[in-house]
Amino acid sequence: MVERTRTVAIVGGGPAGAALATYLVRDGFEVVLFAPERRPPLVVGESLVPAVIPFLRELGIEERIREQAITKRGATFTVGPEDQFCFRFTDARGAETPYSYNVPRDVLDREILGAARDAGVHILPEAAKLDRTEDSDRVQLSVDSLSATHGVLQRQPDLIVDAGGRGRLIGRLLDLPTVEGPRRDTALFSHMEGVPLVVEGDVHSDILEHGWSWRIPLPGRVSVGFVVPDEHWERYGATKEERYDTLFRSDPAVLRWGGTPRRVAPVLKYNNYQRITSRGVGPGWALLGDAFGFVDPVFSSGMLIALDGAKQLARAVRKGTPDAFGAYEAHVKRHLAAWQRVIEHFYNGRLLTLFRVGSYMRETIPGRVLDPHFRKHLPRVFTGEASTRRYSVGLTDFMCRYALAGNDPDPFRVR
Ligand SMILES: Cc1cc2nc3c(=O)[nH]c(=O)nc-3n(C[C@H](O)[C@H](O)[C@H](O)COP(=O)(O)OP(=O)(O)OC[C@H]3O[C@@H](n4cnc5c(N)ncnc54)[C@H](O)[C@@H]3O)c2cc1C
Repeated sequence: MVERTRTVAIVGGGPAGAALATYLVRDGFEVVLFAPERRPPLVVGESLVPAVIPFLRELGIEERIREQAITKRGATFTVGPEDQFCFRFTDARGAETPYSYNVPRDVLDREILGAARDAGVHILPEAAKLDRTEDSDRVQLSVDSLSATHGVLQRQPDLIVDAGGRGRLIGRLLDLPTVEGPRRDTALFSHMEGVPLVVEGDVHSDILEHGWSWRIPLPGRVSVGFVVPDEHWERYGATKEERYDTLFRSDPAVLRWGGTPRRVAPVLKYNNYQRITSRGVGPGWALLGDAFGFVDPVFSSGMLIALDGAKQLARAVRKGTPDAFGAYEAHVKRHLAAWQRVIEHFYNGRLLTLFRVGSYMRETIPGRVLDPHFRKHLPRVFTGEASTRRYSVGLTDFMCRYALAGNDPDPFRVR
């Protein structure tokens, strides 16, 4: 790994890349950020967990995000006509930030990139191209990309960071092995008007006949996504638009939303996203954000993992030792694994069963005694404040496995 890094090239001006660039420039590094201006009409990653807020503050953009976002105070889960669980961020005992935001991605990305520009990052509005250095596990900027820096980089940078998202530029170039998650889902999403909500501002998740849905309230519209196992999509039509619209008109849980929904944007498709690259660092390179790994959309953990990773990687670059880069890699892997552990219990029905058990156990004497302890740990895993804390994650996992008081989790399982 590079020691005494001075110059860094970052591929990708999404949240991870732009945040890292800002941290590094503030620390005195010379940073070029490849951030093409062209982007899809919509991008996922609109609902933020509360633990993202301290990063927005550090980047100096919380106020501007607040003005263009919907304040989010909790999450509402619906299973069938009977069961609804409203989780308030204030339920978390000792919560440092009891709120968050739902924000369109073009706004979030523009503001984070703006912070990078203000900090003095050299932003190049084009895609980076990398080459593999012969048969080694090294990469370098292509001749064109190096010359696109217009002399800011006189030679190859000391460090290249792939923050280019799920395209996994370095991972593919170096044939780095990946570990895939257990699910084979495809998410279709778009923006709607006329979609009602149970609790204003909340992110909503409903269990569908097949898969689950999200409703994320944004200014003037609602982002609606359907996450459905691949084998079930065919029954809803041939094209992604047909599938999205048919599911909207036919799934019993969605029909129960009521309202007069109108789709006001194209439908976008995401699949094969549960993927973690086996290595996060190598000689002169590092992976960050989705380029390193992503687990699942269900608890909106992606942006937190990306921003937390940016901060940890900046720390490693500052120290510049192999141990520091190794610690960064281990930290991100642990973080991804922690979310994987609790997300599994959403899909197998155990987490929502635990919510239900918790609601009546709190009325018993032992439940009242233990409640403050549980409220300190379990909710804060999902707000992200304790998602890197082993005890909190372990307790959540343990409770999901062994504290269902004989209740069958099957009715809450995602099929
Ligand atoms: C279905 C789904 C729903 C999700 N919902 C949420 C949610 O509600 N909340 C949440 O927190 N997370 C969510 N996520 C995850 C979240 O979107 C990602 O974790 C997050 O965007 C990661 O940020 P990033 O900066 O690593 O990557 P990205 O946001 O993908 O940014 C990468 C950037 O790099 C650019 N790029 C790519 N190649 C190059 C190149 N060669 N040169 C220059 N630039 C390049 C891309 O154009 C892009 O702008 C969701 C994910 C999925 C799949």
